Amino acid sequence: MTEVDVAVIGGGVVGCAVARELAGFQLSLALLEAGADVGEGTSKANTAILHTGFDAVPGSLESELVARGYALLSGYSAAVGIPVERTGAVLVAWTGVDLDALPGLRERAARNGYDRCEIVGADAVYAMVPSLAEGVLGGLTVPDESIICPWTTTLAFATEARQRGARLLFGHRVTGVRVEPEATVLVTRAGEVRARWVVNAAGLRSDVVDELYGFRRFTVVPRRGELLVFDKLARPAVSKIILPVPSAAGKGVLVSPTIYGNVLLGPTAENLTDRDDTSTSRDGLEFLLAKGRAIMPSLLEEEITASYAGLRAATGRPDYVVEIDPGRRYLLLGGIRSTGLTASMALAEHARVLLAGAGLALKARDDLPDPPRMPNIGEARPRPYQREDLIAADPEYGTIVCFCERVSRGEIRDALASPVPPRDLDGLRRRTRAGMGRCQGFYCGAEVGALMRRAGR
Ligand SMILES: Cc1cc2nc3c(=O)[nH]c(=O)nc-3n(C[C@H](O)[C@H](O)[C@H](O)COP(=O)(O)OP(=O)(O)OC[C@H]3O[C@@H](n4cnc5c(N)ncnc54)[C@H](O)[C@@H]3O)c2cc1C
Repeated sequence: MTEVDVAVIGGGVVGCAVARELAGFQLSLALLEAGADVGEGTSKANTAILHTGFDAVPGSLESELVARGYALLSGYSAAVGIPVERTGAVLVAWTGVDLDALPGLRERAARNGYDRCEIVGADAVYAMVPSLAEGVLGGLTVPDESIICPWTTTLAFATEARQRGARLLFGHRVTGVRVEPEATVLVTRAGEVRARWVVNAAGLRSDVVDELYGFRRFTVVPRRGELLVFDKLARPAVSKIILPVPSAAGKGVLVSPTIYGNVLLGPTAENLTDRDDTSTSRDGLEFLLAKGRAIMPSLLEEEITASYAGLRAATGRPDYVVEIDPGRRYLLLGGIRSTGLTASMALAEHARVLLAGAGLALKARDDLPDPPRMPNIGEARPRPYQREDLIAADPEYGTIVCFCERVSRGEIRDALASPVPPRDLDGLRRRTRAGMGRCQGFYCGAEVGALMRRAGR
C-alpha cells in the first residue's frame, strides 16, 4: 500500500496547485487522479481569464482568493513561462439598465480591493473596440483583466509538484474512505493509499468524495458552459475581453481573445444532471450565434474552428465550500465554480494555512529544485518555429508537424519526454497545440499519432 503524509484527491488546477504548494515542505505526497492525466476535467475547458475579482461578492472567500490568486498566478506565470496577456476588459452597456449598473459595479470592484475600473462613454468604448455593434451607451474598463493558458497552468503545477517529489497516481478514482486513528485509507481500483491527511479537490465530484466521509453538506450541480472558438483571422478585431454587464441571470456571454491567437464566444449557462456531459448542443450554438451577432456582427463572418463545453461545479451557495475537519485530518475544497483557475494558487495557500492550523506539521525544505520552465504555446512571445537560435541548435524545432498551429517536431518530442507526459492526442494538444487549429488534426493527425506510438504512448 502507498503510504504518504498527504493525499490530494483530484488532478485539476486546484489539486495540482495544492500538491505543488505542500510539496514545498518536508512531507511525502500523492495526488490521486481518476483519469489518465492532469487537467482533464473542468480545468481544460473554461474561458481562460485571469480575473482581477472586480465583480466577486465582496467579503466572500472567493473575493479574497481570486484577488490573491491573481497576484500569485501573475508572478508564477512570469517565473515559469505560463502564457499570459494583460489585454484588459471592457464591460459594455447596451441598455439604460446596464448604464445605470456601472457605478455600482465600480463601487463593488473597489470593495473587492480593485480600484482601477473607470466608467467611459460610448466613444471611448468604440475607440477600444471599433467593431462592436451599433448601440453602445457606455462602458466600464477593467484594465488588469487578463487572458492565460489554462493548460500550461495546471501542467506547471503538476510538473513542479512532481519535481518536488510528489507522486502523481493516475487511474486512482477514490471510491471508499476508511478513517483510522492515525491515518485514512483511500480505496481505489488501482489499490489503497494510506494518508495521514487528505485534501478533497475532486471538482465536480467533490460532494461525492465528501459523502464518503459521511457528510451531506452540499450538492454539486454541473452547470454547462458552451463556447465557440473563432479562427485566428478574427483576433485583430478583439484586442480586449468584451464583457456584458452581469445581471441576476449570471455573468452572461463574453467575447475574448485567447493566448493562442483565436477568439472565444461564450459561455452559456445551463444546469445539467450528468457530471460528465461536456457535449455541445444545437441550442447552445444558436444561442451563442445570436449573442455574437448582437455584440459584434463582423465576428460571425469569420470561421468557427471548434466548439467545446466545460462544467462548472455550481452548488447553489454563493461562495466556495471550504471546510476543514481537524479530527479526521480532512480538508474539503469544494464548489470551486467559475474562478478556480485564477484562485488556484491562493486556494493552495489557504489550504496550507488551514492544514497547519489543524495540526499538520510543516517544515520548510532547503533542497527545493528550481521551478520548471514551461514550453511557450502562447502567441505573445516567440514560439520555437520563430526562433532562429533554437532551430540552429536543434533543427527539429524548424520541422513543422502541425501547420495550422505551427507546432514543430521538437516541441512534440519534448512534450512526450516531459516529467508529466501526455497519455493521448488530447493531452498532447494541451501541451503543444498540435491538432487544435483550423483542420482539427486532419492533416497532422497521422504523423502526430505515429510520433506518439513511437514514444510508447
Ligand atoms: C465554462 C467555464 C468557464 C470558466 N472560466 C473561467 C475563467 O475564465 N477563469 C477562471 O479562473 N476560472 C474559470 N472557470 C472555472 C475553472 O475552470 C474551475 O474553477 C477550475 O478548473 C476547477 O478546478 P478543479 O481542480 O476544482 O476541478 P477539475 O478540473 O474538474 O479537477 C477535478 C479532478 O478531480 C478528479 N476526480 C473527481 N473525482 C475523483 C475521485 N473520486 N478520485 C480521484 N479523482 C477524482 C477529476 O477526474 C478531475 O480531474 C470556468 C469554468 C467553466 C466551466
